Amino acid sequence: MPKRIFRKIALVFTLVAVTAIIALSGLPSGKLELIFLDVGQGDAILISTPDNHKVLIDAGPAGAILDPLAQELNFWERQIDLVILTHPDTDHIAGFVEVLKRYKIGQVLLTGVQHETEWYAEILRQIAEQGITTTVANAATDFDLGGGVLLDVFWPEENLAGRFVSDANAASVSAKLIFGTTSAILTGDLDIESEKIILESSPDLHAQILKLGHHGSKTSSSQEFLAAVSPSYAVVSASADNSFGHPSPEVLAKLPDAKILETSKIGNIRFISDGQTWRTKN
Ligand SMILES: [Zn+2]
Repeated sequence: MPKRIFRKIALVFTLVAVTAIIALSGLPSGKLELIFLDVGQGDAILISTPDNHKVLIDAGPAGAILDPLAQELNFWERQIDLVILTHPDTDHIAGFVEVLKRYKIGQVLLTGVQHETEWYAEILRQIAEQGITTTVANAATDFDLGGGVLLDVFWPEENLAGRFVSDANAASVSAKLIFGTTSAILTGDLDIESEKIILESSPDLHAQILKLGHHGSKTSSSQEFLAAVSPSYAVVSASADNSFGHPSPEVLAKLPDAKILETSKIGNIRFISDGQTWRTKN
């Protein structure tokens, strides 16, 4: 083989190898990834920052998160820096029991409201046993996730630790994820009444991505709230043919200009931002 061709082949091989190593290594990518995991009827959202920090917002119902989560992490990535439990309903937190057994958790953000279920009690027990730091969310809680990424928690308005709330959905931890000019609004199962209170202070809710509150139920997503966010993409995290009728056709009809993406149809839904635009294959 002539030497020049051999050198060219060697060069191409090296470039391919280096690219593969960077892609597989979990080294900082400079990009923000926002992934809605397909956990069936529930919510679980994985954020991977440009510095390769991992944030998990909710962990879905029992027995549903480990596979979709493993699809998005390298097998040696066993650390999740921050876990946010938006509210203690089973379809958002039960899967966290399995996550706690298999991953090292840096810290947990929660609302601290009273909630009497075995799942929630088990999670609080595990958190205490493992000595994981917990923080109670309120509107002043912000997380600088590094690499220029900010997670701005805007609800609940105040610390609800130890309080009894009649509707846990209404106290869902809600946040805006911001990276450069790209952003996403993530509101757990937040209801219309709480959306109204949030809108009263006219916060900057505009974002290209909105995870529809409460799996696309009509108890969330008022016209006013949708207008304030004005998303290009609306994500529904729910199972196919669920008994709740999620997502509500009424809610989807309020979003004529947004592309609707559903975990039940697509599986994991992945967005990647370079700080200027979101890219998605879906
Ligand atoms: Zn839910």
